[in-house]
Amino acid sequence: MSYRIPFNKPFIVGRELHYMAEAVSAGQIGGAGRFVQACEGLMEKRFGAERVLLTTSCTSALEMAAILCNLEPGDEVILPSYTFVSTANAFLLQGAKLVFVDIRPDTLNLDESHMDSAITDRTRVIVPVHYAGVPAEMNAVNRIAGQRGLMVVEDAAQGVNARYHDAYQGTMGDFGCYSFHETKNFTCGEGGALVVRNPDHIQRAEYIRQDGTNRHEFLHGMVECDEWMDLGASYLLPELLAAFLYAQLENMDQITSRRQAVYHRYHENLVPLEQRGDIRLPFIPGGCTINYHMFYILLPSEPVRAALIEHLKARGILAVFHYVSLHASPMGLSMGYRKGMLPVTEDVSDRLLRLPLYFDLTDTQVDEVTSAIRNFFCGGKQELPVLIR
Ligand SMILES: *Cc1c(COP(=O)(O)O)cnc(C)c1O
Repeated sequence: MSYRIPFNKPFIVGRELHYMAEAVSAGQIGGAGRFVQACEGLMEKRFGAERVLLTTSCTSALEMAAILCNLEPGDEVILPSYTFVSTANAFLLQGAKLVFVDIRPDTLNLDESHMDSAITDRTRVIVPVHYAGVPAEMNAVNRIAGQRGLMVVEDAAQGVNARYHDAYQGTMGDFGCYSFHETKNFTCGEGGALVVRNPDHIQRAEYIRQDGTNRHEFLHGMVECDEWMDLGASYLLPELLAAFLYAQLENMDQITSRRQAVYHRYHENLVPLEQRGDIRLPFIPGGCTINYHMFYILLPSEPVRAALIEHLKARGILAVFHYVSLHASPMGLSMGYRKGMLPVTEDVSDRLLRLPLYFDLTDTQVDEVTSAIRNFFCGGKQELPVLIR
C-alpha cells in the first residue's frame, strides 16, 4: 500500500548521484577509496573523533565493537530492552550474557539508577542507546564504568550529529556506532560507522573491518602482501555508497535545519493536545543539542494507539511504532526474562507512535498530520484553536 504521506522517504540533497558517477569513472566502486576517506575525515573533524571507520551498517559497527571488547563466554553486558535487535545480537554473537535494564520514563534511555543492581563481577560492558537522538545520561554511565572498570559502547545509530553538552554522541564511550540506514538522518540506503576513541584499538578495528586481514596496510604499501591477522568479516562500506553518503554529510547542516523545522512545527501544533492530557510529547533534557531524528507521541493506551494508526491510515498517512521489548520477545523469554520485569519499557513499547519525518516533508503535510491527530481526539468539534496557517 502506498501512502500520501509515507513514514519515510528517500531524498537527494546535493551531489549524491554526481559523486556516484565520479566513483564509477574513477574506476573504484568497492573497497576504501577517496569517498570512504572523505566521509571518515569529515566526521573525525566535525565530531572531534579519534578515528571513524565506515561500515556496511550500524549492526556491523556494533558487531565490531563487541569483538573489540574481547568478551569471554558468560561475561555480562548491560543494555536497554527498548532498542533495535542489533544492539543485543552483536554481544550475543560474542557469547555474552545480556542483562536488560529498564529505561527512564522521560528520555526513554537507560535508567542509570538501575545500574548498581545490574552490575555483577562478570559485567564487562555497558551499552547506552541514544533513543531518538536524545542522549543517555553519559556522565553517569561513564562515571559508573570508570569506577568498575567497564567498557562503554554507545549505540548512537539515531544520534549522528547530536550532542551531549560539548561532546558528540558516539565519541564519549570506548566505541560509538552510527547508522546511515535509509530511515536515519543521513543515509546511503544501508551504512554505518564505528567510532574508536582509544588509538590502541584502531589497528585491530581495521583488521576486523576487512575480514580479519591487514589489507588496509597492504594497500598503503606498509606490508608486502595481505594476510589473515584476526577475526573479522566484510564490514567495509563500499566506495559507491560512500560517494552517496558524502553528499549527505556535506549537507548535514541543511538536512538538520529542515528536520528541526518539521520537528518544531509538530511540537507547536501538538502542544494543545498535550495540555489537554491527550498525548505526551518528547522530553529533551537541558544541555543537549538533538539532531531531530524522530518525532514521537505517547498515547494513553495501546488500543488508542491502534485506533489512531487506523485513523491516520484512512487519511493516507503512515505512522509507525517500534521496539517490541527485547526481553519480552521470544528470544528474550528463552533467556529467562518475563513480561512484567521491565515495566517502563513495556509501557512505552505499547504507547509510543512515531510520526512521518523526512527531509522533503512539507509544512502543509505536517499540518495535515497534526490536524488528523487533533480530529481523532476532538472529533469535528472546534475545541482547539485552529493552528493551520
Ligand atoms: C537503526 C538502528 C540500528 C541498526 O542500524 P543499521 O544501520 O540498520 O544496522 C541499531 N540500533 C538502533 C538504536 C537503531 O535505531
